[in-house]
Amino acid sequence: MSAPSFATAAPLAASPPCLKNFRRIVIKSGSSLLVDRGQGCVKRSWLESLAQDIADLHRQGADVLVVSSGAIALGRTVLGLPERDLKLEDSQAAAAVGQIALARIWAEVLSDRKITAGQILVTLGDTEERQRYLNARATIGRLLDLRAVPVINENDTVATNEIRYGDNDRLAARVATMASADLLILLSDVPGLYTAPPADNPDAELVPVVLRVDETIEAMAGVAASRLSRGGMRTKIEAAKIATAGGTHMIITDGRVAHPVSRLNDKAPCTWFLTGSNPVTARKKWIAGALEPRGALHVDAGAAKAIASGKSLLPAGVTRVEGNFTSGDCVLIRDFRAAEIGRGLVAYDASEAVLIAGRNSQDIPGLLGTPGRAVIIHRDDMVLARDRITPREPVTNGNS
Ligand code: GLU
Repeated sequence: MSAPSFATAAPLAASPPCLKNFRRIVIKSGSSLLVDRGQGCVKRSWLESLAQDIADLHRQGADVLVVSSGAIALGRTVLGLPERDLKLEDSQAAAAVGQIALARIWAEVLSDRKITAGQILVTLGDTEERQRYLNARATIGRLLDLRAVPVINENDTVATNEIRYGDNDRLAARVATMASADLLILLSDVPGLYTAPPADNPDAELVPVVLRVDETIEAMAGVAASRLSRGGMRTKIEAAKIATAGGTHMIITDGRVAHPVSRLNDKAPCTWFLTGSNPVTARKKWIAGALEPRGALHVDAGAAKAIASGKSLLPAGVTRVEGNFTSGDCVLIRDFRAAEIGRGLVAYDASEAVLIAGRNSQDIPGLLGTPGRAVIIHRDDMVLARDRITPREPVTNGNS
């Protein structure tokens, strides 16, 4: 018999890690939490309490990212559109109007707590196409370096049914793995995952810890979407699969209360989805095992030494460029004897790499005619041959 995939009782249920142990946390809030259904405006005092929780985590040193829904729900009220069954162009128009308000409110509540907010609107391609993914990842990374809080939503004004997430649960999970977050908190309108949909099953029990998302867990998820939000438990389980495969733990908890995040420190009911990995290992495993190298960068002894000590590869250390790759592809890093010393995701196309090889990073704008990244392979996008872990099971998480 295989090991159980969940636990409903102590001691496992009592053992999940506590919030202050996480260094990068994504918090996702749904529309029905943020927007007052009757008035069609933001629930300000609730949002203030969430902003305070964010500020507390931020002050303790964590990087915090917010994935906020609510654009369509806010915009449709302003435009006098119906609450349900919007046509595509109506939801795009509603998102255009509502997103401005949403971004302003987030900027205000965070700035009241001395935190700078930065808006990022993403489409499916930004998380699924490697080049755009690396670009979005770099922007998020820079904002976090600068201690800003990215406030992220899907760009619903241009997303069409074929090319959209449609729900912010899975979007938040992709953002979490993209940002190498170690925790994703989904604020929901239920306290967590139940052994059966609680509306029809009075005996349903809250599951405190999920160790592995398998068929038993999937069977527990109903379709309990409220009228304002898009995601039900099913999209949350999908999110859990993405997050845990990418090395991110996930929590589902009830967001309908004040201070929904800090309550978790006081044992608020919730479901933890635990991962056995961590974002760095999961990502490096993906780079090491799932990608076909498209070329190679030969490097000098100085660069080989620098990357061995954990540094990024700069164009100055590249002596020769081999292959016909595009930026975002996986390439090998070879030393002066042509031995493979690592591999990684390259920030430039091969034709650009040839131009900047051996040159100082400050010369890049002059050489390429556009400002570019200072590094040719960032250390987070690199696996050294000496650290290579051969993946045992296939890594399905495309861009983790
Ligand atoms: N992106 C949508 C919005 O901001 C919400 C999607 C969702 O509710 O998950 O209105």
